[in-house]
Amino acid sequence: MSDSLMATYNRLPVTFARGEGVWLWDTEGRRYLDALAGIAVCGLGHAHPAVRDALCEQAGTLVHTSNLYGVLEQQRLGDLLIEQTGMERVFFGNSGAEANEAAIKLARLHAHRKGIDNPAILVTEGSFHGRTLATLSATGNRKVQAGFEPLVQGFVRVPYDDIEAIETAAANRSNIVAILVEPIQGEGGINVPAADYNARLRAICDREGWLLIHDEIQTGMGRTGRLLAHQHDGVQPDVVTLAKGLANGVPIGACLARGEAADTFGPGSHGSTFGGNPLAARAARAVLETLRDEDLCSHADTIGAWLMEALRETFAGTPGVVEVRGRGLMIGIELDRPCGVLVGQALEAGLLINVTAERVIRLLPPLILQQAEAEQLVETLTGLVRRFLETD
Ligand SMILES: *Cc1c(COP(=O)(O)O)cnc(C)c1O
Repeated sequence: MSDSLMATYNRLPVTFARGEGVWLWDTEGRRYLDALAGIAVCGLGHAHPAVRDALCEQAGTLVHTSNLYGVLEQQRLGDLLIEQTGMERVFFGNSGAEANEAAIKLARLHAHRKGIDNPAILVTEGSFHGRTLATLSATGNRKVQAGFEPLVQGFVRVPYDDIEAIETAAANRSNIVAILVEPIQGEGGINVPAADYNARLRAICDREGWLLIHDEIQTGMGRTGRLLAHQHDGVQPDVVTLAKGLANGVPIGACLARGEAADTFGPGSHGSTFGGNPLAARAARAVLETLRDEDLCSHADTIGAWLMEALRETFAGTPGVVEVRGRGLMIGIELDRPCGVLVGQALEAGLLINVTAERVIRLLPPLILQQAEAEQLVETLTGLVRRFLETD
């Protein structure tokens, strides 16, 4: 591969030329079942006609003008997002990290308005919030931070899925203004908290006057079987961030807010040149409309439940398999040992998967996954994992 690129990624020895649905073809013409969807990005699969048509049409109409003017497609997307999420206002950026940066700035500005000069945001161990300085400082993974010190201050870390630790922090500190948390941790290993965790976070935030900020960059856009993961819990955050699946691969990020938080930013307090431009906004609207019209969140819920059950059955009693967990089409298979080599072995077998937190196989297939494809996924993966566990 070319030396012209900075070596920020350990790339696998494959290059893709085209895709269709859940399938990808490499430059040699080999076909792969994509059970990663560009890391939870291509929820509608590859080359979806609705996204293709939206992009082609918009490219021939208007791509960019800037946020100095009214942007019709951004307004339309905002209206649709508000309607479908129960939030009140939205700011658009171009990535997940930018969406979280907006949320962090919003929480700080909100705090300063209330007279808190040194605001702190509670974050959790094992979290991932991005690679910019503020978001890597919020991230609960030393590997992401190492070498980039001094980190951004103002984050207080507690273990994930630990209400007691939050109560202790609440009792000992007066400068906490928000909790920033993933409803299910993605990069951290598909960590599903206790069923009442998100509801209890909501209750604590209400009691303390903190903002509940959900990072739904990975869990959002139907991934867990609802448009947003917190909709499973009947919990409404004050701020929610979206990106990955929002425009099926066209770069976009969104920070949505409601209540007091929705009115925090004013002219000049935040901005983005590209954010919410007509092309990206049009693609995102096509995604939201397709999810709604084709009932794809329910589909992800149903096929995800089948997939998880099938994986639990096939691995039941298998020494080396610790747990199969997740929600909808966000599934982790935890092994008792590091299993990064499985990614390359799966690639050779024509299957794209990911391993995160060293020993958790992560599956994030497109939401359009059909039964026969899900069966093929289980069959291929079962063989690979069994062989790995027997020979490792
Ligand atoms: C991927 C991810 C991010 C960062 O998104 P980028 O678009 O890579 O900046 C933030 N939070 C979560 C939960 C993610 O999964």
